[in-house]
Amino acid sequence: MSTTEQRVAVVTGAARGIGAATAVRLAAEGRAVAVIDLDEAACKDTVEKITAAGGKAIAVGADVSDEAQVEAAVARITEELGAPTILVNNAGVLRDNLLFKMSAADWDTVMNVHLRGSFLMTKAVQKHMVDAGWGRVVNLSSSSALGNRGQANYSAAKAGLQGFTKTLAIELGKFGITANAVAPGFIATEMTKATADRVGMGFEDFKKAAAGQIPVQRVGEPEDIANAIAFFTGEAAGFVSGQVLYVAGGPLD
Ligand code: NAP
Repeated sequence: MSTTEQRVAVVTGAARGIGAATAVRLAAEGRAVAVIDLDEAACKDTVEKITAAGGKAIAVGADVSDEAQVEAAVARITEELGAPTILVNNAGVLRDNLLFKMSAADWDTVMNVHLRGSFLMTKAVQKHMVDAGWGRVVNLSSSSALGNRGQANYSAAKAGLQGFTKTLAIELGKFGITANAVAPGFIATEMTKATADRVGMGFEDFKKAAAGQIPVQRVGEPEDIANAIAFFTGEAAGFVSGQVLYVAGGPLD
């Protein structure tokens, strides 16, 4: 690749929240960005934000857990933007419940979006990275990977993504590809707002209570995570691979 050629990044679940902030941030770093979410129309705001700032982006509707949709999405991105060599597996859902009340369907949905989705997306994109001899994969794990009440499905999926990340780093390293995981703590998004709604708390009170437990005394914003992802996907991060970075306003392990 010539130094003037623009790298193509794919961010899943980028209609809002952490994914949207990441898409905007990567575009500001000079990447052309494919903004993927379930509903193509929902990606419009993110794409407009990028193009209004002079960046390049397209909206792509796809369910990351559906193999045919993933393959069609990556083919379209390759055609319209060029071969993708940066992938951020961010799409996610919650189906929280205590184990004895958790349905098999809620288990499967969470596994399908986080684990199967990241697997299918990475498989579809890695061939372009191998061809380019360069690639960056970032998977969204979570502080819940360490265990969290009411999240047997989600914590298993997020811990699973850490193993997936390390294996990608081992298998793909020889092709110039790195793989890392970012594990956010509490980030103010629709996802944490839904949790506040579920436990019957106002979002402001919920955030204030969470902030009190965090060493830096605030909750995270989507841009806090986008900053970490920008580092891992950067040209200078080629010797950083197979790592899990907790971005949580304090230490976790
Ligand atoms: P969010 O606001 O709920 O956004 C997630 C996006 O993913 C939504 O636009 C959603 O679309 C989309 N999505 C869901 N299923 C999909 C699928 N099958 N295919 C394509 N897109 C799909 O969540 P967020 O808080 O920004 O979280 C982003 C990532 O960070 C997730 O992986 C999450 O688990 C992780 N994370 C978040 C936090 C936090 O505190 N917020 C903490 C740790 C980790 P719909 O709206 O149509 O469902």
